[in-house]
Amino acid sequence: MDCIFCKIANGQIPSSKVYEDDKILAFHDINPEAKIHVLVIPKCHIQSVGELTEENSSIVAYIFEKIPAIATKAGITNGYRVITNCGPDACQSVLHLHFHILGGEQLPEHIR
Ligand code: 5GP
Ligand code: ZN
Repeated sequence: MDCIFCKIANGQIPSSKVYEDDKILAFHDINPEAKIHVLVIPKCHIQSVGELTEENSSIVAYIFEKIPAIATKAGITNGYRVITNCGPDACQSVLHLHFHILGGEQLPEHIR
């Protein structure tokens, strides 16, 4: 499958890794929108929040359980924002579920 995040997950495309285990990978965004900008992805391909089901949604809880430690490991000490974009109106550009962790500086109060 021609999915850039599947290729990052299986090592075909290199990434600056923050955390990895058998189920998920966290790596620095190539085009950071905050001082610290990390992406967390499941290694299995799920297109977006819109494709979550009773069968595959446990990975989301797993990712959120890991996010505090991932944020700390990335150097975030004073809070962060977690964002996921779903579909065209939200400007989702990579069709593999991912959670942005943004921090390392004071973020604007609203995202729009
Ligand atoms: P989206 O717009 O889909 O919510 O977020 C996709 C994110 O993936 C963007 O912030 C973009 O900078 C990042 N991205 C796209 N391609 C790559 C890549 O090859 N490597 C890394 N590290 N980040 C990428
Ligand atoms: Zn994928």
